[in-house]
Amino acid sequence: MTQALSTANLTAFVADVRQQLGDDAITLAEAALDRYGEHTLPAPDFRPGAIAYPRATEQVQTLVQAANRHRVPLFPISSGQNIGLGSKAPVRPGQVVVDLGRHMNRVLEVNDELGYCVVEPGVTFQAMYDELQRRQSRLMMSPTAGPPQGSLLGNALDKGGGGGASSDHFGNACGMEIVLGNGEIIRTGDGSLEAEEHLNWHVSKYSFGPALDGLFTQSNYGIVTRMGVWMTPRPPHVETFFFTFPDDDDLGEIVDLIRPLKQAGFVPTQIRATNDLYLISSAAQHPEYARTGGREQISDAARHELQRQFGLGSWTISGAFFGASAAAVQPQLERLREHFTRSGKGRYISPEEAQTIAPLHIATLNYNGIPGEGELRMLAWRPGGGTSWFLPGTPLVGKIANEFQRLSRAICRDHGLEYMVSNVCGPRFARGVHTLVYNRQNPEEAKRADDCYRAMSEAFAKRGVFVGRAPTLYQGYHQSQRMPALVQACNAIKRALDPNGVIAPGKYGIDG
Ligand SMILES: Cc1cc2nc3c(=O)[nH]c(=O)nc-3n(C[C@H](O)[C@H](O)[C@H](O)COP(=O)(O)OP(=O)(O)OC[C@H]3O[C@@H](n4cnc5c(N)ncnc54)[C@H](O)[C@@H]3O)c2cc1C
Repeated sequence: MTQALSTANLTAFVADVRQQLGDDAITLAEAALDRYGEHTLPAPDFRPGAIAYPRATEQVQTLVQAANRHRVPLFPISSGQNIGLGSKAPVRPGQVVVDLGRHMNRVLEVNDELGYCVVEPGVTFQAMYDELQRRQSRLMMSPTAGPPQGSLLGNALDKGGGGGASSDHFGNACGMEIVLGNGEIIRTGDGSLEAEEHLNWHVSKYSFGPALDGLFTQSNYGIVTRMGVWMTPRPPHVETFFFTFPDDDDLGEIVDLIRPLKQAGFVPTQIRATNDLYLISSAAQHPEYARTGGREQISDAARHELQRQFGLGSWTISGAFFGASAAAVQPQLERLREHFTRSGKGRYISPEEAQTIAPLHIATLNYNGIPGEGELRMLAWRPGGGTSWFLPGTPLVGKIANEFQRLSRAICRDHGLEYMVSNVCGPRFARGVHTLVYNRQNPEEAKRADDCYRAMSEAFAKRGVFVGRAPTLYQGYHQSQRMPALVQACNAIKRALDPNGVIAPGKYGIDG
């Protein structure tokens, strides 16, 4: 149910919230509205109607109940570091951003014995890392390669991923507390028992009845206020490995080499096959931008020169082994070296050499479970602060991977933008994490970035490949690519859990 937001409704809502939660629970300050409306996508900013700062689950419930009374839409963020996917901005202008991260940022539990923690929405990757260090915990977390101020809970709800052994963040989330759109509070899994204590809430994913947790990922059915996150014991030694391959079409061979390693569980982390410019952009800027005015994709000559400068080929493979010591993982490393260099194309990059190649430091930190800011530097590859992520994926078959890398490389070239991608490989599937970096201050270049995103989405969808996550700007468009019955099912769930449509209408294309 889409509804127009009236100024009178918003004014009454703000007064109601102030009366119940205090003056500082919500702001209409112009500077804050401007800042929360900013994003990096090729569209004008999406300025919110107000920003609310709840301090506890009950206050979130108060906000949702007031939103229902006054028919005001809310947009929840945990820490709003969704850079390239929407940042802190709501999916539609005028929605009231509920910034959970400002006050609800407690680590509620770290259970060293069972290997999990319980967090509020505002606990960031950096804060969790610091907390594990402070406690001298035996656990290792899985940070993203993105902003250290991102939220564990927010990232898991968006089905994010990271380094370490628990790299699938929603897969390692267990047990949630949620304020539904109708204002009710629910606890999922064994947390749903009416009891003083919940022994299994954050250790067992498979409880009685339907597994509801997935409903709250990439949706707008409720606001999650607590989550359990599984972690693994920190191994005594982490051996990060790198191999580099020279040619663009080597991706096919690489993917076919990665598949058996992941299917057999030989490498415990994700294996990433990342292209030259995705890596190099974190340490260099587009060398031809001034000359071409950003109208053209970097030339092959300039790209090969950058490859030479950084000692990297067209594709670089990374991953890590965990073991008791460096010596203990040597046999695995030897087998891996033989595996990737057998055809004569792959070259092993030793840890000593990797130390001298700045773009590789990001992966080394990441596989060691340490948050870092290095990858954010890629946003400065072109001037003007524009970035969108395009996130399709393909089966782990070399021929298919090559077909799609050629396709998106050509579409980027046709739109005068660089092809930057990291293929994050599991046993059967690789998520192709594409970054479109463009000049958002230049309307012509921003239009090309928008056209490029849509052209890639169309071309991939025609071949049966969909995205796994999307910038807010494109969520309605992607939902319209799906079968009508599925869209109707999403909307029916929305109407059941949020009958007045107060939580982020339009997010992930769900309107009710
Ligand atoms: C250079 C770079 C590298 C990146 N690398 C990675 C990477 O390796 N892996 C990765 O996964 N991402 C990556 N990202 C993307 C992004 O920065 C992260 O996903 C980040 O964690 C998202 O921000 P957040 O955690 O603050 O979530 P938020 O921005 O707070 O929220 C993310 C989404 O979840 C929803 N949401 C948040 N909290 C709640 C809640 N409590 N209840 C209901 N809905 C909620 C929001 O509405 C929003 O749709 C990268 C970004 C950049 C710029």
